[in-house]
Formats: sequence, structure tokens, C-alpha cells
Amino acid sequence: MWAPKIGHVLFRWTMGLPVGKRVDELNKVTGARLVKEADGWYVVFRVQTEVPEPAEHTGPTVGIDRGIAKPLALSDGSFREHEPWLTPGEAERLRRLEKARERRRRSRKKGETTSRRLARTYDQIAQLRARAKRRAVDWQHKVTTELAEVFSRVGVEDLAITNMVKSARGTVGNPGRNVRQKAGLNRAIAGEAWGRTVTLLEYKAAQRGGTVVRVPAPNTSRRCSACGLITPGSRETQARFACKAGCGYEANADTNAARNIDHAAGSAVSGRGDLGGTRSAKRQPPTKPHAV
Ligand SMILES: [Zn+2]
Repeated sequence: MWAPKIGHVLFRWTMGLPVGKRVDELNKVTGARLVKEADGWYVVFRVQTEVPEPAEHTGPTVGIDRGIAKPLALSDGSFREHEPWLTPGEAERLRRLEKARERRRRSRKKGETTSRRLARTYDQIAQLRARAKRRAVDWQHKVTTELAEVFSRVGVEDLAITNMVKSARGTVGNPGRNVRQKAGLNRAIAGEAWGRTVTLLEYKAAQRGGTVVRVPAPNTSRRCSACGLITPGSRETQARFACKAGCGYEANADTNAARNIDHAAGSAVSGRGDLGGTRSAKRQPPTKPHAV
């Protein structure tokens, strides 16, 4: 490609363009810009595509809970998991780099500019973090595509971003055991992951004739998804739900929460919901130009 003031620039394709081969008046590349990421420069193309109105999705519905032990729990009892974003070797290297960064920061005298070695350490840390984030985004794309293809309606918790790292936090009485391990990089990624997952799901579902319904989250983990009652002690442990109201329902605690979210999404759609404040997120397919 040709860049102003630089000239011809060679680049490598990292993903296909939605325009494909049928370039015409409605489907075309309308612009490009260079973006600097921690691990190098990227070319971001702006494209315009014509998206036909999809037929209504006829698949089953699902609720999704951000699990305690597993990233995503589905109301059908399945889970979506992933490996840690960094291999043990990479994680170890990141830890060493972060130690080195602290050491060099401390030894830096007042008024001294950042040394070349410290600057290099910053770069290496940023590169590893960028790699972890890219893997997280790849995984989210894969999972959200699959969910949008299979399910006609996906119910998700509508939570503020700040509430998002519930897995590591635990409660006051029962603080999460993994707080320290999960601090840092994992937390940073998890913190932005849920919002991105929902955003990806919304446009992918819309493209396939499905919907994403955001439902308020209170009591989804405490309510029995079989009989609908909230009974003290039903949430036996972080991982296990066993209804104490006498209905006999037992399940993984995250699966139970996901089933409640599915039910709440159904009530929200049919307008019988008693949850209030529900936002349905059916969106028009993106017919306007959008960045990729
Ligand atoms: Zn029950």
C-alpha cells in the first residue's frame, strides 16, 4: 500500500476483508490507516459492505453466565473454556521483566531520563501483554461466532464494567482464594473481556437473525432455576447449587445461574418480565461502513 510521506509499505494480511472478491459500488474498501500497537504496526481498513436482512433465527435459546471456575457457563450445562493466555514460559518471562522494571525504576536517580534498558523492558512487557490480549480476542471471536450460529436468543448479564471481576474477588466472608494469582494481567484482560464478548455477540447475532438480551443480574446465582425460589443455603459452595426449597434440583452453580439468565431473557422478550430495566439489544445489521 501507499502511505503519505513514507511511500510504498509492505504488509501481511492477518485477516480477510469482508468485502471479498465482489468489489462494486456497495462493497468496497473506503479507506485505510496505520495503527501502532505494542507489537508493531497494523493497517486497519475501513470497508463498506452490503448486508442482506437475515431470516429469523430458529435455533434454541441460551443463557450465559460468566463462571467462577470456567470463563463461560451455558444454560444447556456446557462450558466454554480456554488455556491461560500466556504459556507458563511466557508468564514466567513476564514476571521476570516486571521485576526488572521495578528494579530499574528504583535505581533510577531523580531527574534522570528513562534508560535505554528500561525503555526496552517496557517494550517487552507491552509486547507480551499485547500477545495475551490478542489470544483472548481470538478466543472470544471463535466462541461468539459459534454461539451466534447455534442460538437464536442469547441472554447475558447486564453488569457494570466495575463489577466484572467477580471470579477472583469472592465475598467479604469468603474471600476468593485466587485473588493474588488472578491479579495483574489476567484481571486486566478479564476486566475488558465481558464487555467485548457482549459487543461481539450482539453484532454477530444480528447478522444471523438472532438477538442478545441483556438482563439485570440480581439473584441469578441464588435463585433455583427449576422452582424459581430463593432459599438460604441453596448455593452450597462456589461451585455447587442444591435447592433447599425441596424441589430436588441440583447443578453446577454457574449452570443454574445461566438457566436463570435464559429464563429472564425469555420473560424480557415476551414482556412478562418482573425484573425491570431490561434492555433488549436487537441491532440492525451493520449496513453502514464499519472498521475491521
Ligand atoms: Zn428448587
